Amino acid sequence: MEFRDLKRQYNRLHIPINEKIAEVMTSAHFISGEAVTVLEQDLAVYVGAKHCISCGNGTDAITIALMAYGVGIGDAVFVPDFTFFSSGECPATVGATPVFVDVRRDTYNMDPRSLERAIERVKSEGKLQPRAVVSVDLFGLPADYDAIRTVCNRYGLLLLEDGAQGFGGKIGTRKCCSFGDISTTSFFPAKPLGCYGDGGAIFTNDDEIADLCRSIAVHGKNADDKYDNVRLGMNSRLDTLQAAILLPKFDAFKEYELEAVNRGANQYTDLLTELDGVILPTVAEGFYSSWAQYTVQLPDWVDRDAVQQCMKADGIPTMVYYRKPMHRQGAFADTESEVADCPVTEELCERVLCLPIHPYLEEREIKMVVQGLRKALSFKYHP
Ligand SMILES: *Cc1c(COP(=O)(O)O)cnc(C)c1O
Repeated sequence: MEFRDLKRQYNRLHIPINEKIAEVMTSAHFISGEAVTVLEQDLAVYVGAKHCISCGNGTDAITIALMAYGVGIGDAVFVPDFTFFSSGECPATVGATPVFVDVRRDTYNMDPRSLERAIERVKSEGKLQPRAVVSVDLFGLPADYDAIRTVCNRYGLLLLEDGAQGFGGKIGTRKCCSFGDISTTSFFPAKPLGCYGDGGAIFTNDDEIADLCRSIAVHGKNADDKYDNVRLGMNSRLDTLQAAILLPKFDAFKEYELEAVNRGANQYTDLLTELDGVILPTVAEGFYSSWAQYTVQLPDWVDRDAVQQCMKADGIPTMVYYRKPMHRQGAFADTESEVADCPVTEELCERVLCLPIHPYLEEREIKMVVQGLRKALSFKYHP
């Protein structure tokens, strides 16, 4: 069993994918070819955003978005403490100071009350200017945007949605990557919609910001003249090949993959409810997850490493996302960012365990994972 089985997907989709790859090879438009434009239009329509700007990866997408708004030195950017490194790395790369905020135990997403406390703390210290919130749709579940948007409005903060894991998720009919003033996603192979290498995209309804992002992604070019560089930017484009690969994958994603992965998650939830002390991921009424991960919390009497070893011995791969709170990452040592009050994140980092999940996982495999976890827990390892 594989944690995320990309081979099964290729098995099913290889004919249209290979055709698309051959089209690119024949046309030889490897940079900014037709597939890129088509994909950007399709993605924008799906998400419900006016503009989609593709780029090199999900990390660049966040950086470009922050650059477009001029976020930088002296700015505080509020970021969940429980996330992948990029969410906090990018604000720091542009010179701003990430301020880490705790998450909710039930959704793993940013806790709006902790956000407000962090903003108040920064304001009262008076050293940094509160500027933006990077809100992450962790494990596929949209964050609590009603509450987060309210806080952003109250303090006049930019809302950047890091939808790298959330693509395909929804609240009501509104899709992930439409909740921020600017939103980003990643097409890293293991994300809900992945390509065969690196890729990313930025979404916004703001015409001016969209133009700025297009410029920044290509060396700060002038809109009409590629060799007139009007600002500093970077070289961050989605390859035509990756865009071409994403087209048939995006069709499958919309047609059946999202549904299939939700079916799998529901099976897990049904089968796991009876496991004593294991806390299952919750999806609130009206929310829909794209299940980038299916993450449970083990009881505190369990030795997680031993559980993973035991499951591995039965051929069941598991992962731990994430082991370390952001504010404890070495890159932030001896900076303002290491100051954080995030007890929930600290605890989650000790207790979370991610089970295999993807649209091609079969019911019998889900049963096997559940059985493997039950067996591992029955040994009642003590740390
Ligand atoms: C994967 C990920 C990113 C970065 O995406 P890359 O395409 O790998 O650069 C950013 N934020 C989150 C939450 C992610 O999971």
